[in-house]
Amino acid sequence: MNKILVTGGSGLLGTYLNKFLHNAKYISSKDYDLTSEKDIIKLFKSHRFNTVVHLAARVGGVHHNILEPVKYFEENILMNTLLIKYSYKNNVKNFLGVLSSCIYPDKVKKYPIKENLLFSGEPHKDLFSYSYSKRSMAVQIDSYNKKFKTKYNYIIPCNLYGEFDKFDAIQGHFVGALINKIIKAKQKNEKHIKLFGDGKPKRQFMHAQDLAKVINMIVKNNIKESFNVATLENYSVKKIAKIALEVCDFKKAKILFIRSMPNGQMRKDIDIEKLNKILPNFNPILLKDGIREIYLKKMKEV
Ligand code: NAP
Repeated sequence: MNKILVTGGSGLLGTYLNKFLHNAKYISSKDYDLTSEKDIIKLFKSHRFNTVVHLAARVGGVHHNILEPVKYFEENILMNTLLIKYSYKNNVKNFLGVLSSCIYPDKVKKYPIKENLLFSGEPHKDLFSYSYSKRSMAVQIDSYNKKFKTKYNYIIPCNLYGEFDKFDAIQGHFVGALINKIIKAKQKNEKHIKLFGDGKPKRQFMHAQDLAKVINMIVKNNIKESFNVATLENYSVKKIAKIALEVCDFKKAKILFIRSMPNGQMRKDIDIEKLNKILPNFNPILLKDGIREIYLKKMKEV
């Protein structure tokens, strides 16, 4: 019988995790709708798990978050609340939730942001619904640990990119959408790419394969702490675009910033002191190498 459950198995992170954590049951919305209590009861009736890795979520770029705040709030609240509740009811010993660096306060006094600042201010307005749904998962996990002495935990990763990302401009995340824009501009022989905002916000991007490796180590080593996961590379959007243009052999292209579109949060780099103590040998892929790898893979598809 399979003892590890991974939700969100068809997503960006879940697809990478499947390459490392083999002896688990990976599910997607096609198997069970995790916003449905009936489906979750059915899931735990037909399987017994001692570990749940909860990756499933409504996830998307800033623009889709602005368009669909109700979906980001309700779907995530329902999935997280029900899954934790029924995991506990069904004697799950280890539960790992995945939050996001986007849910930290919009502004803090000291960067990079430490884990203890999660509730120290309002999240950025464009990601308000998503942020509060994810913050609620932290509250719920902490409450179960307090009340029922469970040892459930969560990680707070920075932005991700990877081969299995969404690459479109509205639903996609920045790096995936950027690679897609570069490929399309090259195909159409255009001399520029367009980016939303003024290029000044800073972002940490991690290859989703690296986060999958961290999760695999958490599960295999039974790590019980909650902590940030990110790389030390914290670059402006403009610098990331320049790196991408260089490694995608499109250095001659101009970047046109559409300044009427929102920037999103200006800064949200997170502190990784705790990560370094827990996993001292963790050595993430450099952004330039990761972008080049994904670009070359995507070029083979076109
Ligand atoms: P993703 O690619 O959008 O995948 C989402 C996964 O959740 C898919 O497997 C999807 O299944 C599943 N799902 C969505 N709604 C569901 C429902 N109602 N019932 C059952 N399954 C459902 O997401 P990701 O980028 O891999 O993100 C994984 C986790 O990391 C999320 O918790 C996210 O918040 C967190 N995270 C992501 C990033 C990032 O930049 N991507 C950054 C920090 C944290 P279907 O394929 O069937 O729809």
